[in-house]
Amino acid sequence: MIRAALLGATGSIGASALELAREFRGRIRFVSMAARSNDAALVPAAEEFGVTRIALADPEAAARARRSFRGEVLEGEEGLARLASDADADVIVNALVGSAGLGPTVAALQAGKRVALANKESVVLAGELLVAIAKEHGGTILPVDSEHGGLHQCLGGAAPDAVRRLILTASGGPFLRRDVTTLRAATPQEVLRHPTWSMGERITVDCATLMNKGFEIVEARWLFGIPPERIEVLVHPQSIVHAMVEFVDGSMVAQLSRPDMRLPLLYAMSYPERWSSSLPRLDVTALQGLEFEAPDPARSPGLGLARKALALGGTAPAALNAADEEAVRLFLAGAIGFEDLTRLVDEVLDEHRPAAVTDLEAVRSADRRARSRLTDLAASRSRR
Ligand code: NAD
Ligand code: MG
Repeated sequence: MIRAALLGATGSIGASALELAREFRGRIRFVSMAARSNDAALVPAAEEFGVTRIALADPEAAARARRSFRGEVLEGEEGLARLASDADADVIVNALVGSAGLGPTVAALQAGKRVALANKESVVLAGELLVAIAKEHGGTILPVDSEHGGLHQCLGGAAPDAVRRLILTASGGPFLRRDVTTLRAATPQEVLRHPTWSMGERITVDCATLMNKGFEIVEARWLFGIPPERIEVLVHPQSIVHAMVEFVDGSMVAQLSRPDMRLPLLYAMSYPERWSSSLPRLDVTALQGLEFEAPDPARSPGLGLARKALALGGTAPAALNAADEEAVRLFLAGAIGFEDLTRLVDEVLDEHRPAAVTDLEAVRSADRRARSRLTDLAASRSRR
């Protein structure tokens, strides 16, 4: 039986975690749950699983929850960090979105926990630091991102020098075959219609620019200790092969499954065991063919941005994430166009003077500066 804290219980990955816990009642027990402000969804989920401690980042939502929930209600960033380091929990499922996920990841690793990490932003913001903290305190990160869960399985603990390259696949997003000259006019509705995965809004927008895949290059770089020039991306529209590893002897290993986030989540929780599940199986004889192609640079600005941030080093990936988070918010609000999204992010990255990531304050300060710079640039653009 694993005792788990579920951070981000009301989101898309959170919903997958709840489904798994329903199937594995004898193996997964939630001891706490957290969300931002949706107490109306969090309280019933906590009640369903007999959870006695919850946290809401938003103090007003926490106040509402105190009136309806019988257990303990924590609030704010500190509340989430407390759940992440709670002695009652062995595994922290971090399904938060955005930079809000970093504090809980750090708190959990410092407390020596296993983190089933969906919040890739944690690694983008402070990957090197997280690896060091995990090593020092005995914590571990098991990636929930499907590609990285796939890589973890393909690698099977192989040393970095046994690896020639890691390959992450990308669905290509909603605009894979759309005429590139029409992309600038893409609307939020079009962007939010992902062909193979159903996910939260931020990551769905990031799939259309391939920024999500760019973040995944950063994630793989730190989680597996492989330099960026040995991490490649291939567009694979069927989303069946999630990752491949080519070893130095020429052998390649790939991981396949239907696109369903419950599977990588289950792997991150059960590892090193495998638990028999009722998840839908992949019928390889029914596959119509698997295609792999190099990404078209005109449709994948996010890849170049991520490689640039990695080359700049230090706080540059944190600035990239923060600028993108703001740009996505402005795009969804109709304040900037689709092509402005990555263009503005690129401007912020170009201006950024990277500092070494020695502590979380360096990351937080880069995050704040990049956000405010992006909002300023967007405002001055819309005045023109
Ligand atoms: P989502 O938007 O559906 O859910 C986000 C959750 O985080 C919600 O529970 C929300 O309440 C909480 N939250 C948001 N902002 C918060 C804040 N400031 N403080 C505290 N809680 C906050 O997002 P999602 O699609 O479930 O994605 C979660 C994470 O998993 C992201 O990092 C995403 O990149 C990653 N991921 C998601 C998928 C997917 O299929 N959805 C796949 C791979 C990776
Ligand atoms: Mg992914």
